[in-house]
Amino acid sequence: MKMRYGLQARVFTAVLAALLITLTILGLVLKRQDEMREEMLDGARGAMNSLVHSRLQANVQASVDRLAGDLANPLYYFDLEAIGRIIASVQRQADIEYVVVYSATGEVVHDGSREIATFGQGVDEVLASGAIGAERGQEAAAESRGFQVSAPITIGEQRLGGVRVGYSLDSARQDTRQATGGLRAGLEEIASRHGFAIAALLSLLAVVAVVMVLLAQRTLVRPVRRLAEAAREIESGNFNASVPDSRRNDEVGELVRGFRRMSESIARHDRDIRRMAYTDALTGLHNRVAFREALDERLAANGESGSMALLFADIDNFKRVNDTLGHDAGDEVLVQFAERIREVVERYAASAVVARFGGDEFVVLQPIGADEDAREVAGRLAGILVEEVGRPLVAGGRPVFLGLSIGVTLFPDDAATAALLMKNGDIAMYQAKVAGKNCHRFYSRAMDQAVERRVRMEHDLRGAWERGELSVVYQPLFNMADNRLVGAEALLRWRHPTQGMVAPSVFIDVAEQSGLIENLGLAVLATACEEAVGWQERAGPEGMFVSVNVSPRQLRSGDLAQQVEDVLRQTSLPPGRLHLELTETAVLGDELRTDRPLARLREAGVRIWLDDFGTGFSGLSHLRRIPIDGVKIDRSFIADVLRDPDDLALTTAIIAMARSLGMTVVAEGVEREGQYNLLRERGCDLAQGYWLGHPVSAEELRLLI
Ligand code: C2E
Ligand code: CA
Ligand code: CA
Repeated sequence: MKMRYGLQARVFTAVLAALLITLTILGLVLKRQDEMREEMLDGARGAMNSLVHSRLQANVQASVDRLAGDLANPLYYFDLEAIGRIIASVQRQADIEYVVVYSATGEVVHDGSREIATFGQGVDEVLASGAIGAERGQEAAAESRGFQVSAPITIGEQRLGGVRVGYSLDSARQDTRQATGGLRAGLEEIASRHGFAIAALLSLLAVVAVVMVLLAQRTLVRPVRRLAEAAREIESGNFNASVPDSRRNDEVGELVRGFRRMSESIARHDRDIRRMAYTDALTGLHNRVAFREALDERLAANGESGSMALLFADIDNFKRVNDTLGHDAGDEVLVQFAERIREVVERYAASAVVARFGGDEFVVLQPIGADEDAREVAGRLAGILVEEVGRPLVAGGRPVFLGLSIGVTLFPDDAATAALLMKNGDIAMYQAKVAGKNCHRFYSRAMDQAVERRVRMEHDLRGAWERGELSVVYQPLFNMADNRLVGAEALLRWRHPTQGMVAPSVFIDVAEQSGLIENLGLAVLATACEEAVGWQERAGPEGMFVSVNVSPRQLRSGDLAQQVEDVLRQTSLPPGRLHLELTETAVLGDELRTDRPLARLREAGVRIWLDDFGTGFSGLSHLRRIPIDGVKIDRSFIADVLRDPDDLALTTAIIAMARSLGMTVVAEGVEREGQYNLLRERGCDLAQGYWLGHPVSAEELRLLI
């Protein structure tokens, strides 16, 4: 934007105006001086004229008096010839216009002419008519141009007549004119000298004005313009705009330095805000926003940068760390994971961008060179990440074993937009989890179908119970001391109308995540309790218990204790015959919210068992704190108990510890006789597994009893 009336224009105008005003004043002074000169010359001429006039008059009077004396005798004798001679001699003098001699009665006696034309006429009329002296070009109004002097002609006391002389001032005037002409020339010369001096002064003034404008330009306009430019740049968002510096010691210097300090502080603030907005506070990695920007940037420049790989990493079972060791330990784990991921990426893919997406999700954006095989390069990095990052670590003073599942998607092979790439990465990561966790998977179109299947499954699962597609089977539990059937675990089964049997590990997960488990769990509980009432009758006075799995979600959201009490009242199953199986995650996750309902259930007589014990982080010492009646050792330990001495040691320790706390110990997944014998040897109370009995329908179990 161009400035219309800038500082420079203002300074220029002001100086120009000052110059013009000075010029005008000077002009006026010069004009006045000219007028004064004229007035002075007029005055001088007047003064000179009147001086000459009065001097002349006195002189002329004296000579006319003398003339009157000379004329006395000739007039007495009336000697016209002698009078004529005397007049002629007088008239020869310069400046004499006429000489008239007249009688005592006022008639002209002689007028100086040869024929005396006016003889005998009245002297006043003759002079008034201009009849005398006309040959010299005299006019009647002679006063202004000259004067007349009269003198009486007397002899003794007798007056004979008089003489009147006309005197012209022309030559006197000529003299004064000449004198004032000289004066004028002198004055004009002085004026022209002054004019030169003034012109020189004016040029000096003009030079000063130019210097002033330039100085203002240098000291004021230029720095202010530079500041304005910098301000405009800062305003447009370039906080690192180059701001002029100044060592000047005046107000402008102060302003420039102040502005510089201000812009630096703005830039600093901007950096701080950017850093806060773009980094993850916990790990110091980029956050989601920063990552999206980096991704968009590279996608926009995709023409040159070739292909890219997006690695979506999610810590396996991270929630359990938070739930069992607390959020501080969880944060510790995240920080260590972030550090490891950063190290690996720095070492193997230096130009990649690493970000944390909140929670336990990390994302790596790996640029891939034009001559590299994207799948191979990204696969290698993912493999190293899984291996390096998945090493055991210590958090909250405890060793923690956590895996990493990574989904990899490639640009431009899999998708061309950021949103699609992120979705693909997420899907691939989920597939890595499904594939058993602690591994990486590449995105493929088939995965979209898997996700679709999952969505469809959730849809199909809704109302499946009402449509009779779901049923409950029972897996017997035996007392190891006497090989007696003492109870059964209720397990949910789903026969899909078109797909047939769906594995509980698959649909329970869907039910958990969609929240359907809350209603399903309640239905299983009611069915199992109803069924178990019948076993009580058949199994004698002690009766058989039924063990029902309870999802963490049921424990947290619904009023579990109330629901269980309602079901027990409706089915009139004694509370002691109902066991609830909860996972460590459910029990330890939120002790404030779970302790109350668990305590209330135990008071009512319901037994609480900890399912899949050993896979979480509660550790043996934790057992003292949790309000439970028994533990079910996870089948992964039982599976290897014959081969792996570590598993045997752990199983033995669990049994010993639980028994010392007065808890019931249950072994699940017993598939062989050897396992059964070993466990019985170590003091395990109850056992469950394919070797003892597969899950069976309610009727089959009744037959078994
Ligand atoms: P779980 O609670 O650990 O249940 C035991 C699982 O081990 C059952 O799998 C059972 O069939 C299987 N099993 C029993 N003996 C053996 C054996 O000797 N070897 C092997 N390899 N497996 C054996 P299922 O029925 O597929 O259930 C899987 C999981 O689904 C269950 O694990 C449980 O967590 C969940 N689940 C099943 N029914 C329900 C339910 O009604 N509510 C809730 N919340 N979860 C359920
Ligand atoms: Ca169970
Ligand atoms: Ca189990």
